[in-house]
Amino acid sequence: MGLFHREKTECDECHARFGNYDHLVEHAKDAHKHHVVKCGMCGKQFLHEKDRLHHVKDEKEKKVDARRHKF
Ligand SMILES: [Zn+2]
Ligand SMILES: [Zn+2]
Repeated sequence: MGLFHREKTECDECHARFGNYDHLVEHAKDAHKHHVVKCGMCGKQFLHEKDRLHHVKDEKEKKVDARRHKF
């Protein structure tokens, strides 16, 4: 279920809604000068450290999965 968790796509500051999390991040940076944190592995940007940690955890789990399924 981890991969299907619903990403938050509503702006905390002005409550605008976006089609995906990346658009929300771009908006928060441009409109509100929001500080972002980056994933060291893929460069994806996040509004909160906890979002990044969640993503990094997902990425690690995906890697473990790939290894398990490899012959
Ligand atoms: Zn906003
Ligand atoms: Zn990443």
